[in-house]
Amino acid sequence: MSGSEQDNFDQASPSSPSGPGTFPSDPIVGIDLGTTNSLVAFADARGPRILGPGETPSEKVRQHDQDHQDHPDLVPSVIRYAGDAVEAVGTDAAADLKTHPARTVFSVKRFMGRSFSDRSEEASMVPYAVVEGPRGLASVEIDGRIRTPQEISADLLVHLRDRASTALGQTVKRAVITVPAYFDDSQRQATRDAGRLAGLEVVRILNEPTAAALAYGIGTRGATETIIVYDLGGGTFDVTVLQVMPPESDDAEGESIFRVLATAGDSRLGGDDFDRVLIQDLIEEAIAGGDDVDRSHRLALLREVGARAKIALSEADATQLILDGGGVLPDVDRLLTRAAFEEAAQPLVERTLEACRRAVKDAGLKITEIDRVVLVGGSTRMPMIREAVEKWFGSPGYVALDPDRVIAMGAAVQASVLAGIRRDALLLDVIPLSLGLETAGGAVAKLVVRNTMVPTRAVEMFSTSVDGQVNVALHVVQGEREMVADCRSLSRFELRGLPPMPAGIPQIEVTFNVDANGVLGVEAVERRSGRRARVQVLPSHGLTREEVAQIEADSYTHAREDMLVHRVVDLAVNAALDVKWIQEALSRVRDVLPGSTTDAVESHLVIVEGLIASARENPRAVDADAFQAAKESLDRASMPVHEAAITRSLRDDGIESD
Ligand code: ADP
Ligand code: MG
Repeated sequence: MSGSEQDNFDQASPSSPSGPGTFPSDPIVGIDLGTTNSLVAFADARGPRILGPGETPSEKVRQHDQDHQDHPDLVPSVIRYAGDAVEAVGTDAAADLKTHPARTVFSVKRFMGRSFSDRSEEASMVPYAVVEGPRGLASVEIDGRIRTPQEISADLLVHLRDRASTALGQTVKRAVITVPAYFDDSQRQATRDAGRLAGLEVVRILNEPTAAALAYGIGTRGATETIIVYDLGGGTFDVTVLQVMPPESDDAEGESIFRVLATAGDSRLGGDDFDRVLIQDLIEEAIAGGDDVDRSHRLALLREVGARAKIALSEADATQLILDGGGVLPDVDRLLTRAAFEEAAQPLVERTLEACRRAVKDAGLKITEIDRVVLVGGSTRMPMIREAVEKWFGSPGYVALDPDRVIAMGAAVQASVLAGIRRDALLLDVIPLSLGLETAGGAVAKLVVRNTMVPTRAVEMFSTSVDGQVNVALHVVQGEREMVADCRSLSRFELRGLPPMPAGIPQIEVTFNVDANGVLGVEAVERRSGRRARVQVLPSHGLTREEVAQIEADSYTHAREDMLVHRVVDLAVNAALDVKWIQEALSRVRDVLPGSTTDAVESHLVIVEGLIASARENPRAVDADAFQAAKESLDRASMPVHEAAITRSLRDDGIESD
């Protein structure tokens, strides 16, 4: 392959870095200039975040494009021109693509820095006119005006730059822009030119897989790692074998070295192909009739419907495909299942794995020499992709960061390094804050305590608190306090489909697994049914060193109070189980007990129920010792109830006792 193999030597020294922790007067943003979607991100001491739109999308967009409404920070890489003017960019342009197929440019990245003769086949596949432009470059002609891919990309970059300026409240002039690892020098130069045309100083061109590694903090700790970045986007699949070496010295100025060992992939394999699988027969029908313009309109309409159904199937086992053909296409209403989709799409999945095998082989490695796989690109949200990669590789890929945002986040991390912004404290070899799970009553069970060395693993058993629960909500939290309300929420997920059992009977084994990069995997398995669910998070994401110190300090300040609250919450949970049991027993044996006994039990029950209610309302307002004493009194008073109940059940079982 050609092109620059090591990002570090690619270009540019940081210009006027500001001091650690200070807000840079001249921010550098990270930009993922994607084939399908583009994003802009910024990183400060808290780490990277995507910069969203400044204003709410118009009503029209809201109706037309639900998908992007849900992800307003993704900017579709789509631009519509009218004569000399840019008419719409991003979501607006994408929403009306099918109305203006000849004036709307998408996937322009495919033509970046390429000659027309090289790209004639791609050119024939898009509804806008690709022609031979200046210096033989593949260019786009609309309304008689010819634009190079650089110019079109620049219009997209202007949109991203303006969005960043609005979000940061200052004019953004500098950026790190990402490109695929296989981009050659002319493609990289074209990207740089696009930045310049957009009024941006491109401080570095960064490889996309390198950005993904940076977003996860890979290479900031002790060891060299060899990773695979598996990137399945909208229309392309790229796999990169990347070696990441930590800085040579402990000097914080040093940057990790990222070496591309091999790349492979398929420039005609992406999410679009999965859409097509779902609506293959409809596409064939649509292609069969009508003139060219009509045909591309109908195809665009179908693509939209297909993409929507596909995304729905990433969440649900089935979805209804509904198409209002409006006279140009047949009306459709059919049920699509994930199982059938996965079967039909299997050949596509297999093609991606084939490329992975090729890349590993080209790198001269065995799969056992690869430390991990990082999943990138919106299409890796499909469960079949995650499962296939896990099966092939032997352990789950990294998905803790949003796969369609991870490149921009990594670009922002690189930008922050170039701007001299630090957040090294969170990248040590220990877990900065305890990791735990919410338990009944809003208390926290800590599974991994602060300052534990990574990698580490912890397992604990949990159960349900309500009879017949079929779904169990799990809430992963981080922090030093005893109550969930005082901790940081990391993730919520559900273990679904448990067979109904009485409270306390299900055995839910929860495993916390923190790997060497600080990525936390949480898995919950219900032992009887074998049902399992899991989630992955990056606990250090979005935290500053100061916040960690503050959280630690708070835990000391509140230690005693927290301990008491936790005790009250636990008492309430246990007392509620006691009350339930005693009430049931009492109703069965009331007839054999003296009135004075049942009266005593009932008055104790009233007291304890009152305390449980108060504890649920506000555990801080309940005296733990008084609660404990009341619970013990109830237990003592109800002894005769227990005895009578046991006697009765023995008799009912036909065993005589005296
Ligand atoms: P690119 O790198 O090509 O710019 P992205 O990484 O943004 O693209 O990925 C876009 C693709 O991801 C589209 O094909 C889109 O349909 C797909 N995608 C996004 N979300 C999901 C999802 N939840 N399930 C399946 N596919 C998805
Ligand atoms: Mg991408």
